[in-house]
Amino acid sequence: MTVAANDLAIVKSASLQAFNSLALPVRAEFFCCVDSIEQIDQALEFARQHQLAITPLGGGSNVVLATDISGLVIHINLRGVDSRQTSSDRVEVTFAAGENWHKMVLLSLERGWYGLENLALIPGNVGATPIQNIGAYGVELSDLLLSLEVIEIASGKLIKMRGQDCGFAYRNSIFKQAAKDQYLIVSITLELTKTPCTNTQYPVLKAALRGVEPTPEAICEAVCRIRREKLPDPAQIPNVGSFFKNPLIGQDLADRLAEDYPSMPIYPQSENLCKLPAAWLIEHCGYRGLRRGAVGVHDKQALVLVNYQGDGADILALAGDIQADVESKFAIRLEIEPRVYND
Ligand SMILES: Cc1cc2nc3c(=O)[nH]c(=O)nc-3n(C[C@H](O)[C@H](O)[C@H](O)COP(=O)(O)OP(=O)(O)OC[C@H]3O[C@@H](n4cnc5c(N)ncnc54)[C@H](O)[C@@H]3O)c2cc1C
Repeated sequence: MTVAANDLAIVKSASLQAFNSLALPVRAEFFCCVDSIEQIDQALEFARQHQLAITPLGGGSNVVLATDISGLVIHINLRGVDSRQTSSDRVEVTFAAGENWHKMVLLSLERGWYGLENLALIPGNVGATPIQNIGAYGVELSDLLLSLEVIEIASGKLIKMRGQDCGFAYRNSIFKQAAKDQYLIVSITLELTKTPCTNTQYPVLKAALRGVEPTPEAICEAVCRIRREKLPDPAQIPNVGSFFKNPLIGQDLADRLAEDYPSMPIYPQSENLCKLPAAWLIEHCGYRGLRRGAVGVHDKQALVLVNYQGDGADILALAGDIQADVESKFAIRLEIEPRVYND
């Protein structure tokens, strides 16, 4: 059933299976797709009138929709790209929230705006990129983000925020903490360069570029190649990429683990903090390539849980077993990376 709020179509009991990259078969109590600020206003007004909670949704590639979603799911579909050259070498580029992220990386390369190449082929849309401060191959969104425009859900007000006020950290931001569920992101503005300023320090990327001139185009190609080799395409095998964050641990535990497991990769981050690859921990608990009923762990990358035809409970049960086994073997509790909706 479709109800109308002015010119906005709001669908009652809409399937979200095509709107989440795990292809979980759940429904939204109400669903709409917004193309403009005016339509966002209409959606928020509808939600206020009917006392509905709001759930924003982009490409659905970082959510585990484990149950039906009550309230109004708003699929953010605003489009547009704007740019301003601010010096001979700097350009400020604004992308609307509904643009596909990877397309914006390619478009930037085409126009000679550099800085995004390491972040190629990350699924999803622009609006979600600040939520977990997307990162890959040595670059994070926060390295480039100047500002963003958001609509405060409670008041409907359009607000400009500075990147530096967003509390960015590894896969984290205020949008997952103090400002959780308070804003709809409508655009982001990045500062990119007109001359290449490349970052090829990440070991896998460095190896892939051996013997190649590391132009931004070559980096983008190498990143896409590496990702295609080790990550399943959600359109073929539903998944949300990394299911767990790489854990940060203290030096004492790192020292003990290094003694017990000499082959464990341990990356010092600061004086007393080390990062471990969650994939290594999961693999050493015997999960890589494991299939359990309708869900499993990808055979090329143990950090990726895949859905063959299961539901959210199957995925979360497998994730729980992985967390328990990793904790009992290594004394480390893995944290789930995507947002889980299970109430
Ligand atoms: C194969 C694969 C590889 C991946 N690789 C990486 C990687 O290398 N690095 C990385 O960081 N991530 C990676 N991801 C995770 C994911 O692609 C990113 O987190 C992406 O930014 C999510 O975008 P989305 O539009 O799909 O967000 P969604 O899944 O739709 O939403 C994610 C969260 O953001 C909220 N949200 C979405 N849009 C908005 C908005 N406009 N305003 C307010 N809130 C919003 C949602 O409510 C939800 O809580 C990968 C995922 C897959 C499937």
